[in-house]
Amino acid sequence: MARYSGPECRICRRENVKLFLKGNKCTTDKCAFERRSYAPGQHKDRRSKISDYGKQLREKQKLRRIYGLLERQFRNYYEAASRKPGVTGEIMLQYLERRLDNVVYRMGLAVNRLTSRQLVNHGHLLVNGRKVDIPSYQVKVGDRISVRPKSKEAKPIKLAVETFARRGGVPSWLEVNHEDLSGVFKSIPSRQEMDLTIQEQLIVELYSK
Ligand code: SF4
Repeated sequence: MARYSGPECRICRRENVKLFLKGNKCTTDKCAFERRSYAPGQHKDRRSKISDYGKQLREKQKLRRIYGLLERQFRNYYEAASRKPGVTGEIMLQYLERRLDNVVYRMGLAVNRLTSRQLVNHGHLLVNGRKVDIPSYQVKVGDRISVRPKSKEAKPIKLAVETFARRGGVPSWLEVNHEDLSGVFKSIPSRQEMDLTIQEQLIVELYSK
């Protein structure tokens, strides 16, 4: 399945929830979901009843789109999680949160995950002082993430840091220094520490059929 390249706001309206895909626009009254919180192409009073399978599928699509992943990549996280002891849904979310592009976004160095992925791809980020340009890189406890010295003046990073307060705070599992554009991944987040309004159990049910 190809990566979706259409308007992000359409995805929020399709999933009937704010997914914060645009960054700063999401927290203003320009947010398309705030203006029209019904599915695109559908009259607002005509949402049809949804089956159990439909609910599971929508929840999966919602989470996959939050992280901007292809179906295969997304499913791989479920499969890896299902092989580990513990709660599969929570482990799957931990894999997603530990992606380097997500950590950089959570640190406030990018306005959204798409920009964060581009920053990583273009080699602007270091992990423990070494360039890592793989967005899916799994960050480990104790890893220090920083912006490459040459990239400290990069416009997308400056803009993200300046507007960070609008988008929320630093999660408890990260330590961030916006002065020198660095941070430490302190611990693997528990489910309670993840700011995600997702029913991951529905996704586990869908994939385990
Ligand atoms: Fe979704 Fe609103 Fe952000 Fe658009 S502006 S991506 S509708 S949260």
